[in-house]
Amino acid sequence: MDRDLRDNDCVSDLSFESEDSPAPSTELLERLPSYDHLLQRDSQQVSFPPSEALGRLLEPPSWPSILEHSRVPVVTEAVAREALLSFVNSKCCYGTAAARDFVIQELRQQTLCRYRLETFSESRISEWTFQPFTNHSVNGPQRGTLPKLWDIQVQVPAMFQEDTRKSQVPHTSLVKDCHKCRGHGRYKCSGCHGSGTVRCPACSGTKRRARPPRRCPLCSGSGRRRCSACSGRGRKTCATCRGERKLVHSVQLVTTWRNSVFEFVSEPHLDCPRELLGKARGESLFRDENLAVYPIVDFPLQEISLASRRGIEEHSAALASRGRILQQ
Ligand SMILES: [Zn+2]
Ligand SMILES: [Zn+2]
Ligand SMILES: [Zn+2]
Repeated sequence: MDRDLRDNDCVSDLSFESEDSPAPSTELLERLPSYDHLLQRDSQQVSFPPSEALGRLLEPPSWPSILEHSRVPVVTEAVAREALLSFVNSKCCYGTAAARDFVIQELRQQTLCRYRLETFSESRISEWTFQPFTNHSVNGPQRGTLPKLWDIQVQVPAMFQEDTRKSQVPHTSLVKDCHKCRGHGRYKCSGCHGSGTVRCPACSGTKRRARPPRRCPLCSGSGRRRCSACSGRGRKTCATCRGERKLVHSVQLVTTWRNSVFEFVSEPHLDCPRELLGKARGESLFRDENLAVYPIVDFPLQEISLASRRGIEEHSAALASRGRILQQ
């Protein structure tokens, strides 16, 4: 055996570790300062009631006049037949004769109301990230006070545009030895245990081939081949610190903007699947947009008023624990 353990003293043996797991261990994270007021992922509730909106006086809409001026679409016999024919045509093997010729005896109209609440909210979390330390200046805690999570200025995207942005929190950077290579910048190759060569796959290290009996041509009779994992070097540059030996750890702010949707369709009086009715096109009766909308009150259909209250309550409760509502 010609195993050569060169530089073994300065290259740590990480062959037992997976080489593609750059995440620092929990043990390391415990040694980093705990910025509890920043890193409040699960620990604290972040609630930001849009106080400006709460003081807003809203003139309740006058439903009789709105309903009077709305044009609720009326389905005539021609419209119904056209809709049926277009449905039949969308199916490859349906014949159109029946749909074209049958006699419509009665058309029953049904008016449905749909309530839809869209809530645009922002949530923030912070997490530790790291990158190789390349001698750039480090913005650590000695450079200034740590900002609070919700005090950090973040450019808000256009309303109702979902997005996620990451930014580094100032004054949180710290330089530590790389946790992966323990500050060596490289580690012993796990493929060849640092020797740079592996047993020849053709002769299994016997240096000879049996048929015909001859010296193994692949390894020229040495019984070993160059290790392809490390190109024969016996060690690998640490991918985590890219050989820099040290890492800069900083807190990163992850801001996410999301739309939550609540939808309700009033009770149908005809035997027709509710999910199909929910897709029907119609007339928009009332639209409101603000920092926080008020529930609809005194709507002729009480279930719509109740649904509106329920939707607003559900969104407020769900989002209060995760972030703040920006617009509804
Ligand atoms: Zn190797
Ligand atoms: Zn060989
Ligand atoms: Zn490293």
